[in-house]
Amino acid sequence: MSAPKPHLTPEIKYTKIFINNEWHDSVSGKTFPTLNPTTGEKICDVAEGDKADVDKAVVAAREAFDLGSPWRTMDASERGVLLNRLADLIERDREYIASLETLDNGKPFMVAYFADLPLSVKCLRYYAGWADKTHGKTIPIDGNYFCYTRHEPVGVCGQIIPWNFPLLMQCWKLGPALATGNTVVMKPAEQTPITALYVASLIVEAGFPPGVVNIIPGYGPTAGAAISEHMDVDKVAFTGSTEVGQIILQAAGKSNLKKVTLELGGKSPNIVMEDADMEDAVEKSHFALFFNQGQCCCAGSRTFVHESVYDEFVKRSVERAKKRSVGNPFEAGTEQGPQVDEEQMNKILDLIESGKHQGAKLLIGGDRLGDRGYFINPTIFSDVQDDMRIAKEEIFGPVMQIMKFKDINEVIKRANTTAYGLAAAVHTTDINKAIMIANGVRAGTVWVNCYDVFGAQAPFGGYKMSGSGRELGEYGLEAYTEVKTVTIQIPQKNA
Ligand code: NAP
Ligand code: MG
Repeated sequence: MSAPKPHLTPEIKYTKIFINNEWHDSVSGKTFPTLNPTTGEKICDVAEGDKADVDKAVVAAREAFDLGSPWRTMDASERGVLLNRLADLIERDREYIASLETLDNGKPFMVAYFADLPLSVKCLRYYAGWADKTHGKTIPIDGNYFCYTRHEPVGVCGQIIPWNFPLLMQCWKLGPALATGNTVVMKPAEQTPITALYVASLIVEAGFPPGVVNIIPGYGPTAGAAISEHMDVDKVAFTGSTEVGQIILQAAGKSNLKKVTLELGGKSPNIVMEDADMEDAVEKSHFALFFNQGQCCCAGSRTFVHESVYDEFVKRSVERAKKRSVGNPFEAGTEQGPQVDEEQMNKILDLIESGKHQGAKLLIGGDRLGDRGYFINPTIFSDVQDDMRIAKEEIFGPVMQIMKFKDINEVIKRANTTAYGLAAAVHTTDINKAIMIANGVRAGTVWVNCYDVFGAQAPFGGYKMSGSGRELGEYGLEAYTEVKTVTIQIPQKNA
């Protein structure tokens, strides 16, 4: 296979609002700029959708969902064909789409190309397979009745997605919603609308009927709020901060009690036991935290290390972080690009300052790299105490916190002393310890001797304030289906 070639200045083809398979200016006529985080310069202006545009999109999505519409009368298997076609088109354009993603988000092109793109394509193909395989049961209720269930689509689904994995989050949301026959009104993050709009053009090319997918770029408090408050949206699926997740749940409660699934933040424990393969544990723990510029909801951001291997782990982790290549995300050897925007960069720098003031030991980094774009040097703190801000708050940046522990019961307890519960990991060669930790931590995903391993087949989601509901896998279908019970009296007499 030849090496992929990034488009260094990819043409931006779509910047408007996508409703009914057509491009629209915003009702207000407003636009907003999307920036290149590598330089801080504007890439282009994008139509700024708000309530009026969401209202239009919901009308289109509702019409597309009407009984008798092309979408509702389409064979389930045909929905699978369309999803497979969309996956094929994304795969066809993978160099271009990965380039757009790098331009708008700042993630290394090689990561976009070799991780985000194939995971997105596989997710769509996985759910394409489910389109005609999710079905109800026949149930032997008491009496002379024929009783069965139908798995029906929920209806018009609002989907609000974040900027850290723009394309992947779009596919995680579209896959199960479309496989099960829903229609969608989606808002991409304000920082990263470009790939979502290009995928909209592929939705038309794949042959989805008008109104099935509608995409409204815009801001959270306006366009996002209009979706979550809407009286004619049946469900909202959100990925982002816990704070906004709370706002969305309240909006659903105050409006029409739409169904809500939330995939929120985390402060995930990554536990290194005394018997871990040290080289492997150092590399995996580095990856657990620094991957995607540290901008992962499931980042292993509390690194607990057993006291007997603590000094060695710290020393080796600093050596590894020193080697991390930070710079132009379009260059092949780059491991770390810029943070997504200035606001995130400043938030991270503020948390780094708090770590210094609260007495953690800064071993490497701790500052901005250069004065152009939003780069932060890989940062490691040791001697971190559980009550410090950097041990409690989601940093969402390349900042590692290393803490010491003595025994397994203590570390399980400390791992669970958080409002979050998204993920956890343990590095050990002792299967008993692996199982004790896997069973003991309250988190939706536990990795053993690995980190950030995702498959479209396996569910992902959070305990506690990390969210509700699960995405991916068969479990991910539940959020997008209503179960209907049909009970039919069977005539008693022979005819
Ligand atoms: P965020 O505000 O939660 O953004 C996620 C999405 O929600 C965006 O599309 C956003 O729109 C939208 N949104 C914001 N306010 C809304 C509202 N009132 N109603 C409906 N939708 C709304 O996240 P952020 O501000 O970009 O990042 C802040 C922190 O969130 C990060 O530091 C990190 O801790 C966390 N985060 C978590 C994830 C994750 O994968 N779980 C992803 C991103 C961020 P805008 O485009 O206008 O923001
Ligand atoms: Mg941008």
